[in-house]
Amino acid sequence: MGNILNGKEVAEALKQKLKVEVDELRKKGVVPTLSIVIVGDRADSAAYIKGAVKRCGEIGIECNVTELPQDLSQNEFIEVIHRQNADKKIHGIMIMRPLPSQISEDVVKYEISPAKDVDCFNPINVSKVMSGEEGGFAPCTPSAVMEILHHYGIDPKGKKTVIVGRSMVVGRPLAMMLLKENATITICHTRTINLAEETSRAEILIAAAGKIKMIKKDMVKEGAVVIDVGINFDENGRMCGDVDFDEVSPAAGMITPVPGGVGAVTSTVLAKHVIEACKMQS
Ligand code: NAD
Repeated sequence: MGNILNGKEVAEALKQKLKVEVDELRKKGVVPTLSIVIVGDRADSAAYIKGAVKRCGEIGIECNVTELPQDLSQNEFIEVIHRQNADKKIHGIMIMRPLPSQISEDVVKYEISPAKDVDCFNPINVSKVMSGEEGGFAPCTPSAVMEILHHYGIDPKGKKTVIVGRSMVVGRPLAMMLLKENATITICHTRTINLAEETSRAEILIAAAGKIKMIKKDMVKEGAVVIDVGINFDENGRMCGDVDFDEVSPAAGMITPVPGGVGAVTSTVLAKHVIEACKMQS
C-alpha cells in the first residue's frame, strides 16, 4: 500500500545516522552506555528491554541491565540510582515503569540525574518538554511519533491535530511537542463529548488511548494522516492498535500500521537520546 508510514524504514534511517555518531565517539575512546533498571519481573518490561538491548547493540551502544528484587525498598532503590548517577561510564539511565507500590514514582523521579534521564522521568525534563526549552530529553514514544512525521516530511504547522489520550507518557508531551511545531492541537480523553466529531476534523489524528480498534472509518477525515500509538492484543493474541486499520487505511492519506509503526521507532529514539547524553557528558 502506498499510504503506509513505515516505522521500520524510519528506524533504519535513524539507525544508520546514529551508527556514524557512535563510531566517532568510539574513535575518541568513548563508549556510549545505557543502564536499564528494572525492579521485579514484568513480561511487558522484559519484552521492551529485549528490543532495546538488541537495537542499542546494533548501533554500538553498550547496554547494562540491572535487575532488582520486587521487594526492594525505596531507599535501596534510590541508592542504586545515585550510584549510577555518579558512574562516569553510564551516560543514560532508563527506569522501567511501573515500579512496585512500595517505591513512589512521585518521590524517586527527582533522584535520577536529568542529564542521564533519557526517557523523561525527572520533572526537570518534563518541564523542558512543556515549555519547549531545548537541551532536555522528551519521552521516547512521543519522540518516535515526531521522527515519523519528520521522516515523511509531514509538517504539522497550522494543521488541525487531534490527539486521543492525555497520559504523561504519550498524549500530553506529544501535544506540547506538536505545539512547538505550530500544530493546532485538540486533546481528547475519556470525558470528551462526541469524540467522533473531534477526530473527524483532524488533518493529523493521533490515537494513544490503549483501546483496541476504537478509531473507525466514520471518525476519520478523508485524506488525514493517522498515527496509531496503541499497542493492544486481540482475542487471537495478535498485536493491533487503537485504529481499525482495515477500515481506516483506504480513507486515510497516510497511516502507521501496528506492528511496524510507532513501536518500531521507540527503541531507536532511546538510542538517539543515549548518544545525545553521552555527547553532553564527554
Ligand atoms: P494510559 O492508559 O495511561 O492513557 C490512555 C489515555 O487515553 C487516557 O488519557 C484516557 O483518557 C484516554 N482514553 C482511554 N480510553 C478512551 C476513550 N474511549 N475515548 C477517549 N479517550 C480515551 O495509556 P498510555 O500509557 O498513554 O498508552 C496509550 C497506548 O499507547 C496503549 O495502548 C499503550 O500500550 C501504547 N503505548 C505504545 C508505546 C509504543 O512504543 N508504541 C509506548 C507507550 C504506550
